[in-house]
Amino acid sequence: MNDTDERVDTDERVVRVPRGHDALRDAATGDSAVTVHEVGPTGVGAVDPLVTATADGETAFYVDPGPDRVRSAAAALADGERAGNAGSPDAVVDGDGWTDALPHAALPGLDRERHLLAGCGWRRPASADDHESAGGFVDADAETVRDAATDLRGRGWGDWRRDEPVGDLWTRVADAGTADPVVVVNAHGTDRGTTADALLLASAPFEVLEGADAAARAVGASEVVVYANEADAVAVETVRDAAESYPDPAAPFSVVTGPPVYRAAEPTMALEAVEGADRLEARLRRPDALPTLGDGRASDGRPALVHTARTLGHLAIALRQNGDSTRLVTVAGDVESSATVELAADEPLRAAVEAVDPTGETEAACVGGRFGGLTDSLDVSADPDALAGADLGTDGRVELLAADRCVLAFVGRAAQFAADANCGRCVPCREGATQLADLLRAVYDGEYDAAGIAELTRVMDGTSACDFGVDAARPARTAVARFDDHLAAHAEGRCPAGSCFEGADTATDSATGAAATDGGTPGVPR
Ligand code: SF4
Repeated sequence: MNDTDERVDTDERVVRVPRGHDALRDAATGDSAVTVHEVGPTGVGAVDPLVTATADGETAFYVDPGPDRVRSAAAALADGERAGNAGSPDAVVDGDGWTDALPHAALPGLDRERHLLAGCGWRRPASADDHESAGGFVDADAETVRDAATDLRGRGWGDWRRDEPVGDLWTRVADAGTADPVVVVNAHGTDRGTTADALLLASAPFEVLEGADAAARAVGASEVVVYANEADAVAVETVRDAAESYPDPAAPFSVVTGPPVYRAAEPTMALEAVEGADRLEARLRRPDALPTLGDGRASDGRPALVHTARTLGHLAIALRQNGDSTRLVTVAGDVESSATVELAADEPLRAAVEAVDPTGETEAACVGGRFGGLTDSLDVSADPDALAGADLGTDGRVELLAADRCVLAFVGRAAQFAADANCGRCVPCREGATQLADLLRAVYDGEYDAAGIAELTRVMDGTSACDFGVDAARPARTAVARFDDHLAAHAEGRCPAGSCFEGADTATDSATGAAATDGGTPGVPR
């Protein structure tokens, strides 16, 4: 039996294989006595691609299996064996009958509560039936949705209301009384590997679309536009499939893509990209102005809600569970493989790291995305107020730096990236990022100007026109505040991490900014 769009029956014997792994799917479909479902990734690199075999409420997990292992598991299931006896599973969970979420298993990242991520690795991402069986498509009227939005905070740097409640913005958009509003789902968050927004499009698109549909109902929108990174091909294809099978949406969905550059996720640049602009420049954001989507003429555009896929996915969960209390955190950097973990808002970031690598030790971490804050403590909760209080970023990413990773080189690359990748529209960011990279590079020449770095980052933070420049100040600012000794040691010709001053002349390294921002070359690139 091949994949169908019907609800899974408890008596079925089901093998779940990840979409896009044709050899695994073909191995599983060899025996007609089992049902094969193609599902999305779990979001945990240590277990993806994950194959599961379920029979009689028992599920066996196979981590990154080859076709032979999948074939043997499917054949054993077809022969009527218990799932736990099928092949040599990496974990077995004795569930209680049919379930609509990936069972908790003693595997990295999967042995904990998941709400927004519950269906990742389990439900067919483009199956409306699977989503409905899991409690989706909540019948909430516009007033109920607006009430839910009162407590909903925007997530991610691509959200117009990052870390703030979205409710009053919605009220203003709904009451604008001009042209029809539009909902823009900003899922263009990809930054050095898959992020939570791309994961949701690829594995839980109905959660995102349901949140967007509810938002459209709440503000009377006539269109929902999903904006994704063109490099996230699987995510784009999957959300397109899901949008086509969405039952009776309040407004039609469309999916558009933008270029694979970091700044394209900034909310005003996202609007520019959706309008089809060739060159992405940030728009000025007056405090009282509504975001608008037009045909390139911002002042004539329709009022727009711009929220990340995470924000809208959390809205769907809040409507279903009567509350929104978790945050997605992607752990990356010096770990075996990256993972996206769901934390309660009051859980410390350390819990996300321990879920992925319980034995992991780290000297430092960059919290909050590409321009996060440097810290030596992850005992701060995932709550945005707590993160802001600790001068850490809130973009849901924790990048671990092992003992041999140099903090100065790390923040130097961040500054050089900002100098190379900004849109050029405003001086504080355009010139400030260049000067910041120069100041950090000068440390290798024995000139550590901590006060100068602090002042420059204060200006960038306070006067840049968009969040790119505001955030770009954070890595260097926090490094000076928390790793002053580490930076000062470089001015004396010594790298505490042992990664600079050996072999390469880091002060005169002429690696290109583009290569060095993502590479492992020590020092601050010119
Ligand atoms: S802060 Fe940077 S990215 Fe934003 S408008 Fe200014 S130059 Fe452009």
